[in-house]
Amino acid sequence: MNVHGHRRREINRAITDQLERVAHTTLLGLTHPSAIELARRLIEIAPGGLSRVFYSDTGAAAMEIALKMALQYWQQCNPPRPHKTKFFSLCNAYHGDTVGAMSVGGIDLFQRAYHQLLFPILQARGAYCYHCHLHMSYPACRFTCLNEVEQMIAEKADELAAVVMEPMVQGAAGMLVYPAGYTRAVWEIAKRHQVLFIVDEVATGFGKTGKMFACEHEGIEPDVMALGKGITGGYLPLAATITTEQIYRAFLGTVEQQRTFYHGHTYTGNPLACAAALASLDLFEQEQTLQQLQPKIALLTKELERFKQLSLVGDIRQCGFMVGIELVQDKQTRLLFPTREKVAVRVTKEARRRGVIIRPLADILVVMPPLSISEEELGILLNVIYDSIVSILGSS
Ligand SMILES: *Cc1c(COP(=O)(O)O)cnc(C)c1O
Repeated sequence: MNVHGHRRREINRAITDQLERVAHTTLLGLTHPSAIELARRLIEIAPGGLSRVFYSDTGAAAMEIALKMALQYWQQCNPPRPHKTKFFSLCNAYHGDTVGAMSVGGIDLFQRAYHQLLFPILQARGAYCYHCHLHMSYPACRFTCLNEVEQMIAEKADELAAVVMEPMVQGAAGMLVYPAGYTRAVWEIAKRHQVLFIVDEVATGFGKTGKMFACEHEGIEPDVMALGKGITGGYLPLAATITTEQIYRAFLGTVEQQRTFYHGHTYTGNPLACAAALASLDLFEQEQTLQQLQPKIALLTKELERFKQLSLVGDIRQCGFMVGIELVQDKQTRLLFPTREKVAVRVTKEARRRGVIIRPLADILVVMPPLSISEEELGILLNVIYDSIVSILGSS
């Protein structure tokens, strides 16, 4: 989740400067200058009407907060709609490893053992085009798979608190990149049926898709956005849940009304982490990180082209600097390798022997370089991955 590289002088300095002031002070009923300043900066860059920041310390917590916020909003909005208590998400979703975040997740392997703990949700199949469950192909399909999504949401709109979604890319599922327009279409369905839209930008936020936030690719305005991972440049644990004025106002009232959002972690909005996050945002501006990134994304796209010729590379998915290379046993039938062959694990181990640390998700090789990578380093990275695939699986 590193953004600007390791040992960045500017971020190191910001942390040690903060350390000279105070290492930690609670956000429970109190605040501190770095948290205030960071909230102001996050709102400046956040999409749409997002204007209120609630801090925490991990992506999973940011999602738990988003879920609790949505649920309580419907109890306290005017007029209240307390029957809106359910959540909708897509298969293959990943939102973190805590109980609420797992409940809205959609990767069976991660949640199977904890089934007893999870609350029921509505879930439809999303656009995993390479293994399309409708056996159609994009764009000829015209998003036929959205029919199921719309039907499910429309039918239960009165009970639905929110639709939860990773915009543009389902990361943990294996870098499943949606076609352009898909995320926006789901957002429009949620809006049409008066269901809140929660975006999980924990993985996609802070430049990984080529824009500051993935929402920007689709021009969507979520009601709640969860941030984590890259927020501190990859330095320290910090997360944030950002919401709109409308939702914020539903939590205001007299002491007797008890409309408070009761959620807080001891290390929420830690000052050292906030200082790192501010320094990271400064670097985005000073180094024009997002502008500098564009030619590197183009280079990455070009370099990935030759991977397509490899006989056991089935699909290559890319959204900015988020890439998944899916290995298959048979390119024609898209047949997966038996799990026990651990092909992607073997390829990543080979890459490690050659000096590159990457990691697999099932049989998908994940490539997600720091935004600060040079073109030369990008070349080395891809050469090693290419050679490692050939070395383990052969080239034909
Ligand atoms: C990593 C991730 C999370 C969980 O974040 P943690 O900081 O690991 O708790 C949630 N959602 C998405 C999309 C993620 O990629």
